[in-house]
Amino acid sequence: MTNVLNQLARADVLQALMLPEDSWEADDDACDCTFQRIGMWVNPYVAETLEVRMCCIWKQLYGLFPNEVRTIPGYRDEGGEWVTEPRGWDGEADMPQAIWYRQLARLQGRPVADIRAEYRMRDGERPRGTPRPQAQATGPTAADVLLTAMDVLADEVARLRALVEGQG
Ligand SMILES: [Zn+2]
Repeated sequence: MTNVLNQLARADVLQALMLPEDSWEADDDACDCTFQRIGMWVNPYVAETLEVRMCCIWKQLYGLFPNEVRTIPGYRDEGGEWVTEPRGWDGEADMPQAIWYRQLARLQGRPVADIRAEYRMRDGERPRGTPRPQAQATGPTAADVLLTAMDVLADEVARLRALVEGQG
């Protein structure tokens, strides 16, 4: 009996050691891939989570099919024209660290790992977000005004009817 309990306790400890402290997420900067993409499947009924660094696997697969993969040093803008300069950060939220490192790597022609090592301590330079201006507060619409007027009229009619019926 004691032996069985010991075995169970050991199994628990072993299992605890296998549980990761971190979680893999898109743009988590945990690998040097340009596009960090994670596959995740969770099933609580079998108490299992399958996390897959798709980007790292894809990178290896791409090596097997060089003719089927092209990395294009640019992107098409809204008008369909190619742009080869990285766009300045214009997001509402602060620039994600992972994207900042990769932008710097592109601008400076250096490996992401290099940039990460250097800029980890310079996070104050990371571009901040620009909150969108709040929508102007607008007055009530014509429909709102009409509906309110109808409510007032209905109340008035009810009051008059009560008055008339009270006199009858
Ligand atoms: Zn990766």
